[in-house]
Amino acid sequence: MAFNVALDGPSGAGKSTIARAAAARCGMVYIDTGALYRAIGVAAMRAGIIKGEKSTDRPGEEQAAVESAVAKLLPGIVLSIAYIGTEQHVFLNGEDVSEPIRTPPASLAASDVAAQKAVRAYLLDTQRNLAAANDSILDGRDIGTVILPQAQVKIFLTAAPEARAERRRLQLQRKGIEEPFEKVLAEVILRDKQDETQTQIAADAILLDTSALTLEESIQAVVSLIESKKP
Ligand code: C5P
Repeated sequence: MAFNVALDGPSGAGKSTIARAAAARCGMVYIDTGALYRAIGVAAMRAGIIKGEKSTDRPGEEQAAVESAVAKLLPGIVLSIAYIGTEQHVFLNGEDVSEPIRTPPASLAASDVAAQKAVRAYLLDTQRNLAAANDSILDGRDIGTVILPQAQVKIFLTAAPEARAERRRLQLQRKGIEEPFEKVLAEVILRDKQDETQTQIAADAILLDTSALTLEESIQAVVSLIESKKP
């Protein structure tokens, strides 16, 4: 049986960076489940169903129409992942969409479609199959509760919205994108709101607040938790 680590938490808590580094140190595969939701978000944007904007105040009727259009889109979507070196790449109907899924509209589109039941159901088996294939760390929102309730290690990573916004601002800056702190903070808060229902803390998860930890300290904390449980 594969040894699985569920690393859940809100956006910007550092999950992907920490999971990638911890996986490398522990000899495990890192699976970025958000990339799968992002790919579906991109597919829905390309189909003209959503625009990658704020979705929280969409009127009920409009929301129902969006959900039904996305549900109709799903059977025509083939998602796969492959590793180039240790980097996970995501393919949408054969096209490598690893870059287009990282834009700010794609982030909002991802959390928009992720709130839809049909999308979560569609990605359930994909994620379970990926987890079963390797000793792996899955980062997501409901890995420890819904996708892998039997995961041997469950960690819920969190950090204050301000700490997450500042990290995100610096990350954008490194890519040459200058955004004011207030704007980034507003996006973090909006995504938290959109992600509220699917972000779940398993009863048996270990809570790790990284607000006051450096990246290296956070990675070390996760690695120690994994090493203490690994057979
Ligand atoms: O983690 P990342 O920011 O790439 O995830 C993009 C979006 O996908 C999140 O905002 C969240 O709405 C959704 N997501 C999810 N469940 C997961 C992973 C991501 O709902 N397991």
